[in-house]
Amino acid sequence: MASFISKETIEAVQNATDIVSLIGEYTKLEPRGKDYWGCCPFHNEKTPSFHIEPDKRFYYCFSCHAGGDVIKFIMEQEKLSYADTILFLAKRSGVEVKYESGYSQPAPDPKLKLSEEYIDLYERTASMFHYLLTETEQGKPALEYITKRGLSEKTIQKFKLGFAPADRHWLKKFLLGKNFSPEFLGGSGLFSKKYQDTAFFSNRLMFPIFNRRGQVVAFGGRQLDNDPNSPKYLNSGDLIQYKKGETLYAFNFAKKAIKENKKVIFCEGYMDCIAYHQCGIEYAVAPLGTALTDEQVRLVRPF
Ligand SMILES: [Zn+2]
Repeated sequence: MASFISKETIEAVQNATDIVSLIGEYTKLEPRGKDYWGCCPFHNEKTPSFHIEPDKRFYYCFSCHAGGDVIKFIMEQEKLSYADTILFLAKRSGVEVKYESGYSQPAPDPKLKLSEEYIDLYERTASMFHYLLTETEQGKPALEYITKRGLSEKTIQKFKLGFAPADRHWLKKFLLGKNFSPEFLGGSGLFSKKYQDTAFFSNRLMFPIFNRRGQVVAFGGRQLDNDPNSPKYLNSGDLIQYKKGETLYAFNFAKKAIKENKKVIFCEGYMDCIAYHQCGIEYAVAPLGTALTDEQVRLVRPF
């Protein structure tokens, strides 16, 4: 598949991607001479053995021997194929992708394509839940509840908090009306596995869960009616676009502050974490209904 993307595109992507700012999104870098040094994002370490030589557009770790160019870096960090890495970097740097003559755009990896389609579904669902919370009568009790708990309008916007209606059949009808197929919705994790028309979240305050790029990939929902027969918090299970053990809540917002302050606060839940951010302590994150995992530590460790 890689050979179908034109050589010019691959070169343009390499020229347009600043290796220091790209890798700076994954680990904290300090200039030393003409190079940059930091803790390696590929293994856990306390003293930096990872460095970048910007003029050679090359990184190398003296401990684990990871090394290469921007393409290799993204392939290994984001676990993408060569071609998908080119597309990822082209999108990031605004390079237009051209294919070798005689080849049209190849079909993307079906798993990646499906994952992007589910992210699109979750983004739209989050926007709709947010609208229900902030603009409608049925969302009012939920809005009053979080306002009473001290969340500002700005915070509610930033975290795109929402409200899932009490009517468990509403979401299915709404999404079918947006032309999503029943099969696609069935695999989305938004509905009960047993009763495919029944929404997984109902009458709950909704917390969208973002990936490190800030896209909505899952949900957590807090009960609003204090029903003793259902859990206070309900969370999405693992999905094609989401592994809860590899994700930290609010990491997309906290990344920069973690890097600047060299500090991180692990909170127990969504509300604690949001409260820290609202007070301006932006290096707070929360694991997602799991004990802290090695993968989650690996996300923040390089900073
Ligand atoms: Zn290393």
